[in-house]
Amino acid sequence: MALYKHGQHLTQSQDAAFDVRMLPGAVAANAGIYRCAVCGDEIGIAKGHILPPQNHHQHRSGLGPIQWQLLVFAQQQ
Ligand SMILES: [Zn+2]
Repeated sequence: MALYKHGQHLTQSQDAAFDVRMLPGAVAANAGIYRCAVCGDEIGIAKGHILPPQNHHQHRSGLGPIQWQLLVFAQQQ
């Protein structure tokens, strides 16, 4: 689970981008932290980079494929 200390720098959002589940190889449309909806593994990634399989551990058989879901969107100014 992602941790933070200074909550005044985070804002809750209802944006639909947080509901999309993406497979490895998809382009990350937003910079930030992505969480695997299946196992909870988390990564940080830059906008436009490819969501990876390579720094995610293997799911045990029967668990299904990696599904990245945006957890925290990093806003650039
Ligand atoms: Zn996973």
